[in-house]
Amino acid sequence: MTEGTARVTLEVDGRAVEVPGGASLLDAATAAGVELPALCSDTRLGPVGSCRTCLVRAGGRLVAACVTPAAAGARVSAVAADLVELRRDAVRTIVSALPPYALGPQMPSELARVCRTLGIGPEDARGAGGRGRDDSHPYVRLDRDLCIACGRCVRMCADVQGTFALTLTGRGADTAVAPGTGGPWAESDCVSCGGCVDTCPTGAITQPGGGSGLTSGELLRQGPGDPAAPAVVRTTCGFCGVGCALDVAVGDGAVAAVLPALDGPVNRGHACVKGRFAHGFAVSPERLTTPLLRQDDGRLEPVGWDTAAAHVARRLADAITAGGPDSVAAISSARATNEENYLFQKFMRTVVGTNNIDNCSRLCHAPSAAGLVASFGLSGGTDSFDDLVRADCLLVVGANPVEAHPVVGARLLQRALRGARLVVADPRKVGLARQADVHLRPRPGTNVALFHGLARVLLAEDLVDHRFLRERASGLAELAELVASYTPEHVARVTGVPAADLIAAARLYGRAERPAIVYGLGVTEHLHGTDGVRTLANLAILRGAVGTDGGFGVNPLRGQNNVQGASDMGALPDLLPGYGKVTDPAARSRAEAVWGRPVPARPGLRIPDMFAAARAGRLQALWVLGEDVCATDPDTGNVEEALTACPFVVCSELFPSRTARHADVVLPAASWLEKDGTFVNFDRRFQRVRPAISPPGHARSDFAALHAVASAMGRGLDCPTPSAALAECARTAPLFAGLSHERLDREGAVAWPCPDPAGPGTPKLYGERFATPDGLAHLAAVPYLPPGEAPDDAYPFVLVTGRRWAHYNSGSMTRRSGNLGLAPADHLDLHPDDAARHGIRDGGDVVVESRHGRARLTARVTSEIAPGQVFCAFHFPASGVNRLTSGHADGVTSCPEYKVTAVRVLAVGKRAGGPGGA
Ligand code: SF4
Repeated sequence: MTEGTARVTLEVDGRAVEVPGGASLLDAATAAGVELPALCSDTRLGPVGSCRTCLVRAGGRLVAACVTPAAAGARVSAVAADLVELRRDAVRTIVSALPPYALGPQMPSELARVCRTLGIGPEDARGAGGRGRDDSHPYVRLDRDLCIACGRCVRMCADVQGTFALTLTGRGADTAVAPGTGGPWAESDCVSCGGCVDTCPTGAITQPGGGSGLTSGELLRQGPGDPAAPAVVRTTCGFCGVGCALDVAVGDGAVAAVLPALDGPVNRGHACVKGRFAHGFAVSPERLTTPLLRQDDGRLEPVGWDTAAAHVARRLADAITAGGPDSVAAISSARATNEENYLFQKFMRTVVGTNNIDNCSRLCHAPSAAGLVASFGLSGGTDSFDDLVRADCLLVVGANPVEAHPVVGARLLQRALRGARLVVADPRKVGLARQADVHLRPRPGTNVALFHGLARVLLAEDLVDHRFLRERASGLAELAELVASYTPEHVARVTGVPAADLIAAARLYGRAERPAIVYGLGVTEHLHGTDGVRTLANLAILRGAVGTDGGFGVNPLRGQNNVQGASDMGALPDLLPGYGKVTDPAARSRAEAVWGRPVPARPGLRIPDMFAAARAGRLQALWVLGEDVCATDPDTGNVEEALTACPFVVCSELFPSRTARHADVVLPAASWLEKDGTFVNFDRRFQRVRPAISPPGHARSDFAALHAVASAMGRGLDCPTPSAALAECARTAPLFAGLSHERLDREGAVAWPCPDPAGPGTPKLYGERFATPDGLAHLAAVPYLPPGEAPDDAYPFVLVTGRRWAHYNSGSMTRRSGNLGLAPADHLDLHPDDAARHGIRDGGDVVVESRHGRARLTARVTSEIAPGQVFCAFHFPASGVNRLTSGHADGVTSCPEYKVTAVRVLAVGKRAGGPGGA
């Protein structure tokens, strides 16, 4: 359905119905309670009217309802006996080419249900079959005998996912779907989003084991309370920060299938290989199922929760006695719910008595928080994703959303395919770069120079909004003076981006009516990451494209599912829930009034400072929750040293992680499929997380674990349920005062700021004024400074790390799912010229060495990477990639410089060292 502005009223079988402008007669019939068969139709796709199973009469003519617009005042006949007969004939004709089992009693397909409604049975299915199967893919099964060539799968793959992996082959009645590459499905371009499985109306494309056997449309049609429906739990994906709403179908206490919610506020019926399929980790035999306590002989032994909680409580109390509250520290998690993060920071501040709490946004988007606050006032993206996909020019910087945020990547790609101009700034030829009007490939670490170069062109060519700059911004004179020297030629020398490309990109962004900036960790994870965010934000300010109708601002793609929420909840050493400063007496007393306990005024330690304090013998106890710091933090050798030095370490985890190996107590945690609460996604939307299954054994939510330890310390934390915790947070933080579980259950998603339970959230920020003290957007005149590491003769390559499509972060969940079959190892990407020069072959083993460590990987020779650079992911900690990265970090936020490490590469069997290192 295409939503128009006006609504239209028409009559269906004598009943008046109102539908949005642009709706079809199929929508009108549905609104009138008439269910028509519509085998080639899916609400996520444009209508094609090819199957002719939705025939109705309108204005005296027989029409396919799905392709006929609902006109105001139209009179539609849908249930007349002759129409039912015509539709039955159309469906019977389609069915006649299928084998009888297509309508067998066990077949839960949309087609089988339609046939049951129309009185069509297996005896009407007379096809001989023999068109063959394809069972090559781990997540997709194709039975070509059941294909009716409706094309829904092909269109899902092209029009929603944008991969174009499928096609219809054959002639006439033999037409059936097949991978476009012609070979087995497993060797096709398929990225396993599951869209084809999810839309296929016949059971021709299914997932192994059948899943729930239903599509999202069928689940929605059945609705809650239908006794025939499987138990379905609506929740929010626990992998990346997009925040896809998922329907988890549950059978016998286990996940039968995960389907994207058709009415998902962000994803609208789409998902990716992680959210859709990678739930196998939940039943992995490696799950931690009972608390473990380190014994005198060094072994970790199972104990009960009471024993574990009492031990943690005693050791924390001992640490406080020995070293004071500031000798205890905690690392909270972007994987945990808001309520768990809220409770953890409350525990540290009110029970332990320290601000030593931080979360893993320190390692990714802390520069976004600092930069966006400095430029605009609030620590979040400026606009809603719903608006982003209306932009007429997309500037995508330092991000590979096609792989790392696939649902966003697919929507941006579709926007570009439908005519929006696309500028991609990334050293690698990332997915979106193939569709870009201009692809800027700056050398890693030169973003600030690039953004200044773009700003200079905007100013030089008068592509700026003078009124906006006069009335709503500050700092123009200083910026203009600074960027005067960033000529395209100078910027070309610094960044490697040709001057003409820089000018072309600036013109596209500067001349667009509704430009939008989307960026990722390629902007933040640098020595000057905060400067990168601020100088990128300069472009939107110059252009008047933030806080106005003239554009869609500056929007970070958050990496982990709840990286926004963990910081929103105050799991930060200097900020309370809702971003009140711990140094601000008014913010402290607001929290103290709710908590009934004093809040320490001195900012606590950041994650790298915690490790440094541990190594220096100043930390007595560290609780690490939901974060495998020994796998994901930079320079992991130093992290392991810190954990070894710390007298008492608690680790809350799903699996026996590398960090757990260093722990004195390991607490088995519940996963996102097993707990209750909320997440905040990348565009500041709160959404509900609901338990679909029970945690294994004695595993518990972190929420329950925190209560257990607090209670063992003789202190209550109040808020006994996640719902009560969010309610208390709403009383503590004005930014979230209007939020509650009840409201989210009713409305689905609400974007903060939401100060009023009766008022709406705020998807688009700064319509009236910016949230800075003076109400203005602040241009940043900060000079370009080089990265912490540069290649030299000994380490001639620049290593950039990032993510691949099938895995997530350290891979602890995706490696324990079927996704391992799709991507069984990390690779080192390097350019063909470099490979030839150093005698490295595609698929060959290589050793990568930096000044900090050594990793072993398999080479992937590809021109996606620029000469002189190499790229790898960090999904397989055993390869040692994070041992390579340096200790350099953003000066403002301590975010590590993951994106620039000088390395050398050696084909295994050759001797390291010497020029080129290989
Ligand atoms: Fe959506 Fe991200 Fe989950 Fe994929 S991993 S389903 S894009 S939230």
